[in-house]
Amino acid sequence: MLPFFTNPYPDELLYSSIARYHFYSGNLDCKDTLEELFGSRSVISSIEIGSHFLILAEKLGGHYSIENILANHTIYPYYAMFLSKERQQEISQDVAEGGQGLYARLGIVAGSICRKEGLYYCTSCAKGDVEQYGEPYIHREHQLQGIDYCPHHEVPLRKYPVTPNVVSRIEFIRFEIEQMDLVHIYEVDPYAEIKIHLAKQSYKLLQQPLHLLSRQDVSQKYLGLLRDLKLVTSSNRIRQKELYEKFKQKLSVDLLAQFESVVDVADEYNWLKVLTRNMKRHVHPFRHLLMLYFLEQDIDDFIDLKTDIGPFGKGPFPCLNRAASHYQKLVIPSVEVTRDFKTNAPIGTFKCVCGFIYARKGPDKSSEDCSRIGRVKQFGHVWQGKLKQLAEDDLSIRAITRELGVDSKTVKRYLSNSVEIRKEASELNQELMAKYKQEIVKIIQKFPQLPRTKLREKCKKQYIFLYRHDKEWLLDVLPF
Ligand SMILES: [Zn+2]
Ligand SMILES: [Zn+2]
Repeated sequence: MLPFFTNPYPDELLYSSIARYHFYSGNLDCKDTLEELFGSRSVISSIEIGSHFLILAEKLGGHYSIENILANHTIYPYYAMFLSKERQQEISQDVAEGGQGLYARLGIVAGSICRKEGLYYCTSCAKGDVEQYGEPYIHREHQLQGIDYCPHHEVPLRKYPVTPNVVSRIEFIRFEIEQMDLVHIYEVDPYAEIKIHLAKQSYKLLQQPLHLLSRQDVSQKYLGLLRDLKLVTSSNRIRQKELYEKFKQKLSVDLLAQFESVVDVADEYNWLKVLTRNMKRHVHPFRHLLMLYFLEQDIDDFIDLKTDIGPFGKGPFPCLNRAASHYQKLVIPSVEVTRDFKTNAPIGTFKCVCGFIYARKGPDKSSEDCSRIGRVKQFGHVWQGKLKQLAEDDLSIRAITRELGVDSKTVKRYLSNSVEIRKEASELNQELMAKYKQEIVKIIQKFPQLPRTKLREKCKKQYIFLYRHDKEWLLDVLPF
């Protein structure tokens, strides 16, 4: 254990407390400091996050853990909530050890926007720190990409005159009050209000417990909020065109340009689309803040927000086929939601592998609703087999209706064997529809620049079929 350490102040970057340690230790060579803290002379000191936390936490004794260094003294929580669970795990691993993959995993390198050259401070914070702690220090909330204001004092940030040497990185910059310009900044900025709002939101992100949410949860919440704005179709797709129109009304292109976040409508992978589709790509946290601003969501409320589970709740759902051995067991993984043509109420269709398909109007109001059949769309081979067997056992029609839970008319109809064939034909249609949809999506992805008319020529068969059977889907998926 180290004989002493410059314990980090509230929201101080780990880098900053190491820089102070280097200064107070009297070490001349930075490599000596690295060796004392990390047991290695070749550790690269990183400003925003860092690595080798496992060794560092050991050297610092029981008060520190990898988790609390990462949560309280790095900028990582700015990113954490918007990363996939897998990515979060990889990063926890990375900082514990070598940290090689860290920056690529965070997307700081690849998806960097509003990059800050150098270190920033708030004049009021600096004065306050000198009064309270006797020295200024590097606040993590002032180093975030896209954030130009102090969330506490609502003033623009100032750049520290000494800039870290990105080439060698073997040096430590410690904030010194003599180097700071403490005169208040008065700036007329038409976007000050929104920038201050975003700064406050970003600070709230830093205060969240680590890994409370992941990208998957965030996407689900977005979906629910967009649904409230009528920007989601019944088949759970986002009306991208309408979303962009509304987004533009709330956030001017001029402002977005200042933050390197203009939405390129022609680009199939523009950030707004990537952010609202649950794709593998990650989006910069600042852009998530823009989205939350658009949705009028405060971080705290957003986190508490119930995840959107749709009008029928989350699966799996029970099979309600009385003829099946798995009757009432939760064997149907998901529900297909469509809209009632006249009333616009959601209709859930539940398909079981036994061939039984039932539907009901939603939304469900209580948990009992999940065992309610609105209409049986198809009885399927298991049910038909059972019917045949009961008939061969010479059961009366009445006994059969009791056993299978249907009326006598249905039993008679199915025993005469005329209905199921027609139903199965419509099932075939469904399969064809799914196939054609996939094909069209593939073509759109392959030729993202192709206008609608040209696309129609390329896939005539699919186009005509889908135009007839699922026009809403088709028009929504086609480019402008
Ligand atoms: Zn401040
Ligand atoms: Zn079943």
